[in-house]
This record gives sequence, structure tokens and C-alpha cells, in this order.
Amino acid sequence: MATGTYNIFVLVKQVPDQGSKAGLNPDGTIDRAKAKRMLNPFDRYALQAALFTKRAYGGTVTAISMGPPPATEVLLEALEHGVDFGYLLCDKRLAASDTLATAYALYKTILHIGKPDVIFCGLQTTDGDTAQVGPQLAERLDLPQITYCEDFAIVDGKVEARRIIEGGIQKVITELPVLVTVANSYHALEYKSFRGAWRVRQLVRNPEEMKKYIRTLDLDVIGADPERCGLKGSPTIVAATEKVGDIGGNCCIFEGNSPESLVKDLMATSNVKEYVTALERP
Ligand SMILES: Cc1cc2nc3c(=O)[nH]c(=O)nc-3n(C[C@H](O)[C@H](O)[C@H](O)COP(=O)(O)OP(=O)(O)OC[C@H]3O[C@@H](n4cnc5c(N)ncnc54)[C@H](O)[C@@H]3O)c2cc1C
Repeated sequence: MATGTYNIFVLVKQVPDQGSKAGLNPDGTIDRAKAKRMLNPFDRYALQAALFTKRAYGGTVTAISMGPPPATEVLLEALEHGVDFGYLLCDKRLAASDTLATAYALYKTILHIGKPDVIFCGLQTTDGDTAQVGPQLAERLDLPQITYCEDFAIVDGKVEARRIIEGGIQKVITELPVLVTVANSYHALEYKSFRGAWRVRQLVRNPEEMKKYIRTLDLDVIGADPERCGLKGSPTIVAATEKVGDIGGNCCIFEGNSPESLVKDLMATSNVKEYVTALERP
């Protein structure tokens, strides 16, 4: 493996913990204050890809998040896993940003921080769930993008990647710099190291020291146009939100002593028989 000093960025978003049963505001938006918070599960794969790239080829990993002050938590979590630096873009004028405004703000943040060789993003989030931010960011930065990526390597200075497409996989070779959205078939995020956890524990106790590793930015610092951020910069309108309630369907749990007997029972159900017949139809 060739070594280098790659400038690796990873985007991490804090989302409401789905297990915390966050309620909805009367206008249909998520009541984020009531919800427990967590690192977007899809971003764990992006984090792993960033850390693996650093381990394999050398470099620095910088995690970037846009959100309210508590979003610092996901940056600290990233540091515990071995990320070098974190940046939080935090500004009240960003409230109610849709994906267009979010991608614009993150684009200005990246321009402010420096020139990345690779930007890793999650595939999508578990709250907004659009999967648009990564590709929009690549367009704004005029970078090649590899979406749904499940394997990433740098060979002789070029990127070799495998991405998921409908019905198969695609092998891609491209130049650096590049933006990659990482599929959840990539390697699971490794456990935090004791060293990382210890380091963060020390930083939390020493706010001055923490400022060296986690920096907070606002729209003025990154030179973003407030008219293109938040509600003003968001052409998307959530017209209505409704609770779907019980979406129905039958859940069947098979119990048995061996995988073979379980598969036999499963194959004998009418649903599977219908499915197999449909697949066999010309
Ligand atoms: C009209 C409208 C109003 C909205 N109002 C609000 C609001 O008031 N408050 C609010 O919190 N949300 C709001 N949202 C949701 C907000 O637009 C999205 O959460 C945001 O634009 C990101 O889109 P997404 O979650 O679908 O990300 P996706 O495109 O699914 O995310 C893909 C990847 O991009 C990266 N990424 C995405 N967002 C961030 C981020 N913030 N920081 C770092 N990395 C990121 C991550 O790597 C992520 O895995 C609103 C959406 C709409 C349409």
C-alpha cells in the first residue's frame, strides 16, 4: 500500500434516537428537544471508512457536523473512535434548513476548513432520510462522487471503489479528490479505543484544550450568505405530516433447532411459495 498524508473529511450528523419515541410538534416537525440524541447510524460506516483510510494510507481525519450545540456530542464520539479534529457549524440562522441549504452551508464549511482529498458521508440519515446532502455537496465542490460505496482503496494515487447498483455491483476508478457516500454493507464501526475514550475524557475536563480539537464555526466565520441558509434558503416546504399508525402486515417467527429445518418451514409458507412462483414466471 502506498502511504501519503491524506486530508480526510467525514460528515457526521446528530439525529433523534428512534428508540426514544420523539414526539411531533403541532406543525409536524420533530420535537428534537424531547428526543434522545445519537450519531446517525449510517455515519458510523462513513467514520469507519475515514479511519480505515487514515490507517491504510496515512493522513488526518476531520469530522464535520452542522447542528445545534448538543451536536458536539457526535464530534466527541468521533474523537473517541480516533478522529483527529472536529468542526461544528452552529448558527441559529441555520434552523429549518432543507437539503439545499444544508449542502450549501456544509460546502462553505469545507471551503473554510481546507482542501480535502476524500470526503466520506453516510448514505442517508435516519431523520431527514433524503440521501441528498452528499451528492449535492459533491456537485457544489465539483468533485467526482461515488455513492453507495462498499469498498474503497487508493492504489497508485487513484481511487478504486466498489459501489452497489441495482442488480449488481460496479467497480469505479477515479482521481482524488473525491466524495464518497458509504453503504451500510461497508465494515461496521470498530469499538472505541481506551486511548480515544481517555483522550476525550481529558478534553471534556479542560475546555481550553478541547477548543484545539473541536472548533465551533458560524455563518460569518465561514463566509456563508444567511439568505441561502435556514428557512430563507430552503425552497422545500413540508406541506403536511401525518402519523401512519399500524402499517399492517403479518409477522411470523419461526422456531426450530437447526437452520435447515427453519428454512424448510419458511419455504413451505404460502407467501414464499407465491414469491418464488412470481420470480419463475417468464
Ligand atoms: C422544509 C424542511 C424543513 C426542515 N427543517 C428542519 C429543522 O428545522 N431542523 C432540522 O434539524 N432539520 C430540518 N429539516 C431536515 C433537514 O433538511 C435535513 O435534516 C438536512 O437537510 C439533511 O438532510 P438529510 O437528513 O436528509 O440528510 P441525508 O442527505 O440523508 O444525509 C446524507 C449524509 O450527509 C451528511 N449530513 C447530512 N446532514 C448533515 C449535517 N447536518 N451535518 C453533517 N453531516 C450531514 C451525513 O454524512 C449524512 O449521512 C428540514 C427539512 C425540510 C425539507
